[in-house]
Amino acid sequence: MTAAAVRPDLDVLDPAVLTDLVHGQLRLGPEQALTLFQRMPIQELGRWADARCRFMHGDSIRTYVIDRNINYTNICTARCTFCAFRRDGDEDDAYTLDREVLLQKIQELTDIGGTQILMQGGMNPHLPLDWYTDLLHAIKERFPQVHIHAFSPPEFVEFVRFFDPPGAGLEDQLRWVMKKLRGAGLDSVPGGGGEIFAPAVRRKIGLGKCDAEQWLTVMRVAHELGMNTSATMMFGHIEGIADRIHHMDMVRRWQDRAIDDFAAEGGGRYMAFIAWPFQRENTPLGRAKEWGLGESDDVSQPFPGDVVARLDGSGEKESHPLFGRRVRMAGASDYLRTQAISRLYLDNVFSIGSSWVTMGPHTGQVALHYGASDMGSVMMEENVVSAAGTTYCLNEATICRLIRDAGFLPAQRNNQYNLLKVHDEADSPDLRVRDWSTLRVQRLHQQSEKAKNEAVGLTIAGAPSN
Ligand code: SF4
Repeated sequence: MTAAAVRPDLDVLDPAVLTDLVHGQLRLGPEQALTLFQRMPIQELGRWADARCRFMHGDSIRTYVIDRNINYTNICTARCTFCAFRRDGDEDDAYTLDREVLLQKIQELTDIGGTQILMQGGMNPHLPLDWYTDLLHAIKERFPQVHIHAFSPPEFVEFVRFFDPPGAGLEDQLRWVMKKLRGAGLDSVPGGGGEIFAPAVRRKIGLGKCDAEQWLTVMRVAHELGMNTSATMMFGHIEGIADRIHHMDMVRRWQDRAIDDFAAEGGGRYMAFIAWPFQRENTPLGRAKEWGLGESDDVSQPFPGDVVARLDGSGEKESHPLFGRRVRMAGASDYLRTQAISRLYLDNVFSIGSSWVTMGPHTGQVALHYGASDMGSVMMEENVVSAAGTTYCLNEATICRLIRDAGFLPAQRNNQYNLLKVHDEADSPDLRVRDWSTLRVQRLHQQSEKAKNEAVGLTIAGAPSN
């Protein structure tokens, strides 16, 4: 497939140019994306992103998936400053799930019609390779129908360090590990740990975690081995807007390569892009002051992250003395604007996922008109984002209602984005509900463990599905 041309000489605010972009006859360049972000009124931007989404996905169906997020361990060698989930191995609440507990969680998932697990951990140096292969075999033996979407790129890079597999370099070693896990039952790789690729930002927030090149290399090996993946971006902290666009540009470039090199032989690719704003509660990074609240902050000047950021990712932290010490949290409009740009920029990625989990269900619903084609996961469990404060809970009926009220037909999908059930009948999950007062939106972190367990089956918790 030949990608459409980037034409930096064209005025991206010209409706004729945007119309070509919507129809896939042009590609956004990085400078043009920045122009759209900075100069186009948000409702107009949403309209163009929606037009692109409708061109790709049609006018009627928007999707969701039922899966369970299983965090098999919270022990982690990294110290990401935005993370409230990780523990050292000797902390009281450090855990690694027993295999039977984990299998029981999957049983509960299949009992309510779930189709996949999203299984990620901290990066636990005490678990040998056999622990993973035995677990995958056990899951596939008991639940052959369940899709295993597991182990993010930072975990794979640490697997190489922990297991010291044979191979001439990282790519070879990754291939060796990944083949073992794929052979044991791994189906696809989630895009966790993407954060922001630009080195200046990544070095500040992702302490002990792989760099962008390594992250992208893991996904390239997964694609080579025929596995689909997703890409994520966590924004709204110390980064500049140009960093977000650089991040999308990296995903687009590596996706082009994956399609060129592997698609003809049945290789994988990035199926989805999901971006969500940083959640600050209980995190070291969350203690950084909001831009404008420091005594020396001059808000008539650009945000430090914008001073540092470069569209080619080459920003240097020395460019601003307050870089990394001030955050700019993202609200609903920043989120919607960022998501709309991602739909327009990532012309080679199938799905854009709405992040209702962090933004709340109603912003998540509006996101369906800002380029998102998918409401992500109706999930039974989430531990990572909820540890940082903000996680909403929605059940399947509510998520279907949100999609329907936004003007679309809700449809359950699987990991490959095949439609499993289009809810166009009177017995659809949302149309069966008579009393919506019992289905209030809940915040996961405000629920007791007992309440969470009681809620399984009807009230299902969600988190960013990556
Ligand atoms: S975000 Fe993931 S890799 Fe980073 S500290 Fe937390 S658990 Fe570890």
